[in-house]
Amino acid sequence: MNATENISLYDFFQKIPDEEAARLYFEEKRWEGKPCCPHCGSHSVSECKDHRPMPYRCKDCRKHFSVRTGTVLAESRLPLHKWLMAIYMMTTARKGIPSTQMAKELGITQKSAWFLAQRIRETWMDGNDTDKEPIGKHVQVDESYFGGKEGNKHASKKTNKGRGTVGKAPVLGLRDDHGTVRAKTIQDTKKETLQGFIKENVEEGSTVVTDELKSYTGLLGYQHLTVNHSIGEYVKEMAHTNGIESFWALLKRGYYGVYHHMSAKHLNRYVQEFAFRHNTAKTGTMEFIEMTVRMMENKRLTYRELTHA
Ligand SMILES: [Zn+2]
Repeated sequence: MNATENISLYDFFQKIPDEEAARLYFEEKRWEGKPCCPHCGSHSVSECKDHRPMPYRCKDCRKHFSVRTGTVLAESRLPLHKWLMAIYMMTTARKGIPSTQMAKELGITQKSAWFLAQRIRETWMDGNDTDKEPIGKHVQVDESYFGGKEGNKHASKKTNKGRGTVGKAPVLGLRDDHGTVRAKTIQDTKKETLQGFIKENVEEGSTVVTDELKSYTGLLGYQHLTVNHSIGEYVKEMAHTNGIESFWALLKRGYYGVYHHMSAKHLNRYVQEFAFRHNTAKTGTMEFIEMTVRMMENKRLTYRELTHA
């Protein structure tokens, strides 16, 4: 089985059949099988199997820990096997997976499934950082709007000078010539916001293609090209390019078709989920799960943080 292969749920269960296999999997991926104290970094560790849920004790700082300590699963009481199954589901569902379905398949409440999925998204949040993978030299930048009725947002934006976008959450995205996507929710579509995003992500001297929105004018340091987004040209362009539009189309299918109640507050987490899955589309299933497990370290997201403020 090679690294880029997508595997079936059956194969996944063959590889990781139960909770003990899941624990060993997490320990192998996080520590290469040799427990390391998350409190002080010491490898001088003794195993105390009777001491569940903390099976290890550090001989240096004397604290107890498990493979969950210091990761996004620290406060979770869900079995590690269910965590891996949830990652498998979110990895393989291109349009995302509703928490109701995840709840049913994992045998947990919808609230638990929702919180579980949010913590997996939190894990993926910095997976789209430019310092991890630089952006190519030819970049298309575009805004899209989420919320309300679906339609041709560019047309309404153009004819109505932004009126068609009132009450909707703007998302700004780019796609380079290798197909890599960066996207995030934005507070407004002011010049500083849009051009700031470009400067953060795109190397100077690159070619940047945008629509004719005023906020893009005077973009310095780049070869700046604009595209007229009148209805006809927009539709034609969508059919003929593999640009950022195809990413928006996928995100919209998830937004309107799968996650019916994606609140503006949580939208960015979903945007990152879709971008990360898009950018790692060529990664095999087990490789993707392994990458996710390794990314869980030093992340934390509480239910309170998610539901308050
Ligand atoms: Zn220690």
